[in-house]
Amino acid sequence: MTETSPLLKEIQYLKGVGPARAAALKKLGVENVYGLLYYPPRAWVDRSIIKPISKLIPGERETVRGIVVMSSTQKVRFKLSITKVVVQDKTGHITAAWYNQPYIEKQFKKGDEVIMHGKIDMYRGMLQINTPEYEISSPDETMQAGVNVNRIVPVYPLTESFTQKQFRAIVKTALDNYLQYVTEYLPEEFRKKFGLIQLQQSLAGIHFPDTFESLEKAKYRLIFDEFFMVQFALNLKKQKAEAQKGHVFNIAGEYKEIFRKHLPFKLTGAQRRVVEEIKKDVSSGRPMNRLVQGDVGSGKTVVALIAAVIAKDSGFQSAILAPTEILASQHMKTAAKLLEETGIKADLILGGAATKDKKAALERLKTGETDIVIGTHAIIQETVEFKNLGLAVIDEQHRFGVMQRAALLGKSEIKPHVLIMTATPIPRTLAMTVYGDTDVSVIDELPPGRKPVKTVLFSGANRDKLYNFMEERLKEGGQIYMVYPLVDVSEKVDLKSAIESEKETAIRFPGYKTAIVHGQMKKEERAAIMADFKEKKIDILAATTVIEVGIDIPNASVMVIEHAERFGLSQLHQLRGRVGRGDRQSYCILAGEPGTEDGFKRLSVMASTSDGFKIAEEDLALRGPGEFLGTRQHGLPEFRLANLITDRKILESAREAAEWLLSSNCDMDHRKINETIDNIKHKSGRNYDLINIG
Ligand code: ADP
Ligand code: MG
Repeated sequence: MTETSPLLKEIQYLKGVGPARAAALKKLGVENVYGLLYYPPRAWVDRSIIKPISKLIPGERETVRGIVVMSSTQKVRFKLSITKVVVQDKTGHITAAWYNQPYIEKQFKKGDEVIMHGKIDMYRGMLQINTPEYEISSPDETMQAGVNVNRIVPVYPLTESFTQKQFRAIVKTALDNYLQYVTEYLPEEFRKKFGLIQLQQSLAGIHFPDTFESLEKAKYRLIFDEFFMVQFALNLKKQKAEAQKGHVFNIAGEYKEIFRKHLPFKLTGAQRRVVEEIKKDVSSGRPMNRLVQGDVGSGKTVVALIAAVIAKDSGFQSAILAPTEILASQHMKTAAKLLEETGIKADLILGGAATKDKKAALERLKTGETDIVIGTHAIIQETVEFKNLGLAVIDEQHRFGVMQRAALLGKSEIKPHVLIMTATPIPRTLAMTVYGDTDVSVIDELPPGRKPVKTVLFSGANRDKLYNFMEERLKEGGQIYMVYPLVDVSEKVDLKSAIESEKETAIRFPGYKTAIVHGQMKKEERAAIMADFKEKKIDILAATTVIEVGIDIPNASVMVIEHAERFGLSQLHQLRGRVGRGDRQSYCILAGEPGTEDGFKRLSVMASTSDGFKIAEEDLALRGPGEFLGTRQHGLPEFRLANLITDRKILESAREAAEWLLSSNCDMDHRKINETIDNIKHKSGRNYDLINIG
């Protein structure tokens, strides 16, 4: 499609549109003819089965065909007129009725053949069809396959500006006059291989399909196209990345050996496998771009540290980024402990004022005295200088935006290796789309000796039962989290209820120490309370979701989640991961009243499985991809027809097709390959840039 293609003609100039309708179309996102052709119906109804009048069933929506025998308009009351058109076929007659639309009468002439579709009623013993959609053929013209009746009819997602009938007419005009300008960009060979019908055919078929089979083929092609554009772009990007130069790390260095020797536990099989994958990446000569997915508690931190130790063996510095200061501090403690005997130097750099200590830390980083710097995104937001950054580890990646990653990567000439760690399992379909240019590793094994968390749904007013249970756990020496929903900091009511509940709990457990942390407290205050909890100076910690990610306090064995029905599935899973980290049997108590079916479903899923991937799949199905990822920053493209949950087979095929086209396996003629690639780039135009995943 060139700049001057008739398809790009402003929609206002399409026959039957004009300025007012053009404005309404713009609100629907339709700017030109091309946009209209790609505006898919939301449903299709079968109006192709025409019934003899004698067989019509009152209450059903049906399609009838007959000859006009009379028409009239009556004023029934001051503000009500009824237009009636009687139509008959060989088996009987039916009255069509319209209210306060007297002009309709003129459209029907005695002897006209009409097709009507609408709900059938009985009125005074007569069959009646109220405000039907209809089509009339004049006597000198045979009835064509209609637009509104006598066929499978599209139903569009519309606002009040259009009736379905008006919109169909506009689409029909666009198809009749402009479909010829739509150019195919996938050669026949390619289409054959992947079972795709031709593009013009699919656009015609999505709006006005002849049969439901042809509708499916049309949908398939257009859904394929949506997925294919994304997969193609991701593949190109990946190829480009693979052509880049990366640091070659020494994967058999001394520090790694020392680190291994002093590790207080044996790596799990899954951890070892992921370490091997990382080793392969960092010694390949290309920059690593790997996502490690591992359920909460699966031991991602030590894997990240091993990567950093390998960097040290190779003479490079590493950065480990955490989403919050609390977590960065926790990583720092873990790292300090595990690195104690190795001689590798780690430093913590947090945001805030440039104190003397911080200045010194920055200086150590710049001179290369520091091997591993741990911190929050402050590391990349501020003017932090490295001597030679070779590896960036981004923990709990879903909290970061794309821009921040880019900033970090800009800090050295050769792109550093990048390792992303996430505890939010991402269903494969989504990962393929959002992280299609990233290699993915999975730690699918928990360290040995972990007891699965027992999850209980607790609904009902009997708080005593809950309190008694808590008391028993406290007597055993365990600690308890109580979590309150606080979706947004502005939700003061929630905060108030959290604070009040904490007071209530304190009164109920006089022998134990309780405290509260929430998002409106100062960072330092929050960190101090978390530290006290870790040191068991606090027995019951009431909290809003600030404890969601990464906190590791093995002695805390009970988590009570209040109003659990108000949390999303993935969030509940994250929260539950805070317990079950030590030797005690742990419990997650989901307290609340699931008022909705969705709420009940979520809580049941939680009670039935602890598999993060299963939970993520359910969450995706319940909430949809946009909500699941939570923010637009993640580069999830907007699909018009494609659905990541129901169309995963088409997604797999589109991915395979993109890989094939860009690989040496593609057996199409070379000229044709290049032409196709050019055509795809051209077609994807704007969308292509949207897929911007660092
Ligand atoms: P996450 O994947 O949630 O970030 P962590 O890295 O915080 O998990 O690890 C959770 C806990 O498990 C930590 O206390 C860590 O020291 C411990 N751990 C990690 N790997 C192992 C292992 N192979 N054997 C025993 N304990 C381990
Ligand atoms: Mg972690």
